[in-house]
Amino acid sequence: MEAATAAVPVLHAEHLAPHSWYLRGEAGAASRANFGFNSNAGFVVTSDGVVAFDSLGTPALGARMLEAIRAVTDQPVRMLVISHWHADHFYGAAAFRTAHARVLALDSGREAWHSERSVARLAQRQVDLAPWVDAHTQLLGADEWIHVPVGTRLHFRLGDVDFDFVPGAGAHTPEDLMLYCEQDGVLFAGDVYFSGRIPYVGDADTRAWLTALDGIAATHARIVVPGHGPASRKVEPDIAMTRDYLLYLRRVMGAAARDLIDFDLAYRQADWHDWSALPAFADANRINAYGVYLEMEQEALAQP
Ligand SMILES: [Zn+2]
Repeated sequence: MEAATAAVPVLHAEHLAPHSWYLRGEAGAASRANFGFNSNAGFVVTSDGVVAFDSLGTPALGARMLEAIRAVTDQPVRMLVISHWHADHFYGAAAFRTAHARVLALDSGREAWHSERSVARLAQRQVDLAPWVDAHTQLLGADEWIHVPVGTRLHFRLGDVDFDFVPGAGAHTPEDLMLYCEQDGVLFAGDVYFSGRIPYVGDADTRAWLTALDGIAATHARIVVPGHGPASRKVEPDIAMTRDYLLYLRRVMGAAARDLIDFDLAYRQADWHDWSALPAFADANRINAYGVYLEMEQEALAQP
């Protein structure tokens, strides 16, 4: 592992609240220039060990994350929680397995970590993120697949800290899983949460996303760590913005899909002025609108 981490910078965790820390990835896509460090991960230190949330985008970064935990505490890492099986969030898991942490994820992700898409992504990362991801990089699933129905939470306590697993309702992937630390009011949210910017909708299920936002609001978290970008202390405004944006996309694109109006025309006729000044609007809005247009076409077809 030492040779593999040699060129990767030492990582430092930011302290959020008494028990909670996070590592903040760089802006933009994973690249050799940023060592694949483009996503966030976090951890919570209890009186009986550490709970880690996500493990960054390469085995070397996972090892650096473990060092960052070691710089804060010598408590053993008991558990690594995977938010979802996207490369930038779980390739560092090997370091945690070596440290005897138990890897947990939502059961609806059982197929995702070794899906065709996941295998193709690994091949791409072996090129883009060599030498940190190479032919020897082994990806494993969870040690424990937990079941948490949408609309519920699964509570557990470790040492002096109470936690809730909060399902993301399939907003970003079918297996979205969030972790709430009660004593700190900190929610580790993965890619379901965007702060102060236009979200990337991609092929997300926006109806599920709205449900996930309700789940986030119900925690009354004071601080949310998103999968990318800085931790947010403006939780209510973030939720309101994302919700308003998704509802607007669904309303405008839904009407167009129902009335069989061509996407280009519908996009041109829509009023975007509430959103156009926000970061990521130019990059994301049109593709978001198109994704929702396709989604609303499907919903319209499914109507009896
Ligand atoms: Zn993702």
